[in-house]
Amino acid sequence: AVKAGGKGQYRFYQPALSASLVQRLALEQALRDAVDEDQFVLHYQPRVDAVTGELRSMEALVRWQHPLRGLVGPLEFIGVAESMGLIEALGCQVADKVCRQLRAWQADGLPLVPVSINVSARQFNHGDVPGMIARCMSRHGVPASLLEVELTESCMLATDRPVADELTALKALGIKLLVDDFGTGYSSLSQLQQLDLDVLKVDRAFTAQLRNGREGMAFFRAIVSMAHVLRMSVVAEGVENAEELAILQDLGCDEVQGYYVSRPLPAAAAARLLRAGSLFPALLQSA
Ligand code: C2E
Ligand code: MG
Ligand code: MG
Ligand code: MG
Repeated sequence: AVKAGGKGQYRFYQPALSASLVQRLALEQALRDAVDEDQFVLHYQPRVDAVTGELRSMEALVRWQHPLRGLVGPLEFIGVAESMGLIEALGCQVADKVCRQLRAWQADGLPLVPVSINVSARQFNHGDVPGMIARCMSRHGVPASLLEVELTESCMLATDRPVADELTALKALGIKLLVDDFGTGYSSLSQLQQLDLDVLKVDRAFTAQLRNGREGMAFFRAIVSMAHVLRMSVVAEGVENAEELAILQDLGCDEVQGYYVSRPLPAAAAARLLRAGSLFPALLQSA
């Protein structure tokens, strides 16, 4: 009787378990289709000089133009794409779209700034990132001076030499390297010192602490001096208001990015920013 009950229970729970599995498999299949059918679009978020507001770069942020759900943000699918080994193909499409977009903006006579591309640790571990990017560059005739690569601290964590070699190869191509979300991962100071990295993007968690008083500010100030000792420039991520911007200017932070400056924008709106060149006048006008 006990056994039969157990069986009954098993049958009862099985559909619930397989429902989430089915959901996951459906998402994976939809993602595969999305890569095959080119359903990804890029939005661009500017990074500007902290003092002058001059446009320094645009970050390419991928979105999934889902046929039924509309625009889906990367947090919902990048992790899945990584775990199913699809991130290499997706990353390749992103790099290709960035180069194609740069050429289109150039053809429209727009003054260009570099575009930064986010690259996951998994791409460094499983693929040839410098080769992939070099092929995109030559396919579209885009110079390395117009490309930047954002890597998270977990990319540096992989202790195997090949990752360091890949970073060196990117640098040899002439591509700037940015450390993304700094302060949330596990990179060591010695790694920061050894790898030839150009820009430290401080995670928005630290920007958010700036308004909490002395400690938040002192902490950020320490990060700025450390980066400058390492000859890296510092970007504050997630700047959301005038008060944070003023503090960051005071702390000597080099560049800022965040909703207060601009949300990530579709390509057409990003083109208008390229033409404008600087963002603070627009902010002052809207204030
Ligand atoms: P990330 O590279 O750190 O990008 C910054 C994220 O913070 C973006 O979210 C951006 O929209 C958001 N953000 C910018 N300013 C603010 C602000 O002032 N306040 C707040 N609360 N958020 C702000 P998004 O576009 O959802 O991207 C999330 C993450 O997905 C990115 O974080 C990046 O790690 C990843 N990602 C995006 N595109 C790609 C890609 O093409 N390849 C890979 N491998 N990862 C990507
Ligand atoms: Mg990034
Ligand atoms: Mg970031
Ligand atoms: Mg971040």
